[in-house]
Amino acid sequence: MLKVADEGRARRDRCAPGRGHRFSGTDQAGSLLSVPRLSEVIAALENLWPAERAESWDAVGTVVGDPEQEVTRVLFAVDPVQEIVDEAVELGAGLIVTHHPLYLRGTTTVAASHFKGRVVHTLIKNDIALHVAHTNADTADPGVSDALAGALDLRVVRPLVPDPSDPHGRRGLGRVCELDHPLPLRELAARAAARLPATAQGIRVAGDPDATIRTVAVSGGSGDSLFDQVRAAGVDAFLTADLRHHPASEAVLQSPLALLDAAHWATEWPWCELAATQLDEISDRHGWDLRVHVSKTVTDPWTSHSPSPGAPN
Ligand SMILES: [Zn+2]
Repeated sequence: MLKVADEGRARRDRCAPGRGHRFSGTDQAGSLLSVPRLSEVIAALENLWPAERAESWDAVGTVVGDPEQEVTRVLFAVDPVQEIVDEAVELGAGLIVTHHPLYLRGTTTVAASHFKGRVVHTLIKNDIALHVAHTNADTADPGVSDALAGALDLRVVRPLVPDPSDPHGRRGLGRVCELDHPLPLRELAARAAARLPATAQGIRVAGDPDATIRTVAVSGGSGDSLFDQVRAAGVDAFLTADLRHHPASEAVLQSPLALLDAAHWATEWPWCELAATQLDEISDRHGWDLRVHVSKTVTDPWTSHSPSPGAPN
């Protein structure tokens, strides 16, 4: 099983695990810690990423879970797949928070003969809840693209596609960013490759490697529906994932826009760290005995990459 490299990742293991009653111990300052119920943790998550801010086609919120159950450990991950659920069982987590929905288009069965039904069975048998924050986390402030920009030390200027319902103009899809010190495209790509978790794909690049990059649009996850807004923003480069041949080809023929295409999973994984930090802060404020973890399991479906002999580098 592939894992995200360990270095520099903050651990959040300060508190003792709960022992099944409401007040379970004290923190370093000697204050009593209480074990939160799932409903309390979910309320905190809903406050960060309200379900009504998700796209109409999306499926966010709690998929599995008993509101009355106590939770002492939470695991954040991008994908609600069996490897992640197995990791939560091992960890003793009572809640998994994922970015991607388990059932985006609904289902008529949770039979364990199907891989998604197997996930549901494992969750319920082990008293583990599953909560999803997807497009409501994409557009949040801070959201998925803030985490992506932060991983590359890009300074966020504004949303790429502002949410008209936000009077402060901070929520929305994607982010327009500036580099404090302009970089050649090749160095920005190298930074993305080094700072995002390692995947078989790495970073695909379109554009002159010596082109100077001062401004970058970023969008975690699939970004090729955003080319009109990226062009309108007048940025030097666009960092996203899942770029298809025709939209990418047309984008680079229309303007000198440089493209950086990372693995979808890698562009969204930094949000897990951001979200975990947010929940950790909430937990501290409430005096909860809650340990918050980020999965380092690589759930990108691509497992290897064979460079073409003689390919441009
Ligand atoms: Zn995604």
